[in-house]
Amino acid sequence: MSKPKRGTVYLVGAGPGDLELITVRGFALLGKADVIVYDHLVNPKLLDFAPRARRVFAGKRSDTHSLEQPEINRLLIREARSGRSVLRLKGGDPYIFGRGAEEAEALQRAGIPFEVVPGVTAAIGASTYAGIPLTHRDRASQVTFVTGNTKDGSFDAADLPRRGTLVVYMGQKSLAAIAEKLIDLGWSPDTPAATVQWATTPRQRTVRGTLGSIAEKASFQAPAVTIIGRVVDLERRLRWFEKKPLFGRKVVVTRSREQSSELARKFEALGAEVAVFSTIRIRPVRVKPIRMRGYTHVAFTSRTAVDYFFPNLVGDARSLAGTVVCAVGDQTARALAERGVKADLVAAEFTSRSLARELMRKGVKNAHVFHPGADKMNPDFERLLRRCGARVTNLVLYRIDKVAPENVEAVEEADWITFASGQTVRNFMEAVGHRRSRAKIACIGPITAQAARKCGLRVAVVPRTFTFEALIQSIVRNP
Ligand code: SAH
Repeated sequence: MSKPKRGTVYLVGAGPGDLELITVRGFALLGKADVIVYDHLVNPKLLDFAPRARRVFAGKRSDTHSLEQPEINRLLIREARSGRSVLRLKGGDPYIFGRGAEEAEALQRAGIPFEVVPGVTAAIGASTYAGIPLTHRDRASQVTFVTGNTKDGSFDAADLPRRGTLVVYMGQKSLAAIAEKLIDLGWSPDTPAATVQWATTPRQRTVRGTLGSIAEKASFQAPAVTIIGRVVDLERRLRWFEKKPLFGRKVVVTRSREQSSELARKFEALGAEVAVFSTIRIRPVRVKPIRMRGYTHVAFTSRTAVDYFFPNLVGDARSLAGTVVCAVGDQTARALAERGVKADLVAAEFTSRSLARELMRKGVKNAHVFHPGADKMNPDFERLLRRCGARVTNLVLYRIDKVAPENVEAVEEADWITFASGQTVRNFMEAVGHRRSRAKIACIGPITAQAARKCGLRVAVVPRTFTFEALIQSIVRNP
């Protein structure tokens, strides 16, 4: 894809909510923008992929505007004129009821170059994720998108095709009036209808009824679309998203932001809503270039160690030739594999102690073990190996700093809280110990579970193998 041009405004559709429904082009532009101006319906997690951009919240709910439309237009023009590449990120598709057209017109008038990237609009997101195809050979051969919130407050229903599918955006306040109008115009009150709220997110909710009943049945808050037509009956057979094993469950992942994304993504793929609760932040330490000569073994006791090792290594993966490569846990082994290195030894248990024991069983007399890791290392690793005649050289590659936790409120509403180390349990208790939570506790392994019990927590699941995959599966089996 071509580079974003300085001074250009990109009007980008973010999709309806699910992070992964943004287009490849929109996603690439995220990483390169200088400024991002975003709306309230944009999934805020998308902003994590725009680390270098300044963020401006433009808000826009129909009643509480954070920035008025003319202000937004002026902002886009001003930023572009200063030579910045501006990403205007809008919910759904920019040109469907999003006032993207007005922004493009203002840019055109001001002579600012712009490009538009489409997005999955709410109707399409709701349709697919609720299981209501908008067209169907036997049921509907046309679709109409209407807004229940027109500029002059009117709703022109007279010329709507009665035999197609109708999707109403922004209709939550006017749904009863809209339904009444349609019925007055001769639509059958028995026409199937469904309202889908927060489509494509873990908070999605679908309520089915008829044109006559839907306004009363689905009296909930925006954002929601209402789909009207015979296609709605298919939902019963075609629903899939709301059937996911962890659909709607709230899961708190207690890891640093840097470490949590993969686990979070896995939970989300199963339908869960994930809040990252981190009490630590990981920061790299500047070190001299690492030369592997002289070491018989290298021991990676965390994925993060792998992440920070390679950029500091003199040479490339070949510098590890002839060295026994050891890893703790499948994540660490996978991180090595991503760099083309197959670990010679992967400790089955999730602790550096267990790796030390496995090494001892193999015999490490006269071995010289290089151990890159965090500033707070478990001293057992070195002690155990020394006792068997090995030399250990530790190198601090990153620091673990305590930070004030985010998402503390999420703990109160959580269904599950997951822990992957004893230290996080202790940090967590220190930060929120006094708060009530009905959440069940899942621990990656017995040592973490022991730490949790010591803190007075009741541990609901500990998987038999100490991997994230197994942790997730034990939660799925224990709804
Ligand atoms: N440009 C957007 C629409 C903006 S208007 C798009 O293409 O989707 C805002 C309205 O869109 C909301 O009031 C609601 O009717 C609908 N909407 C947006 N996101 C939604 C979602 N996740 N679920 C249901 N409706 C949504």
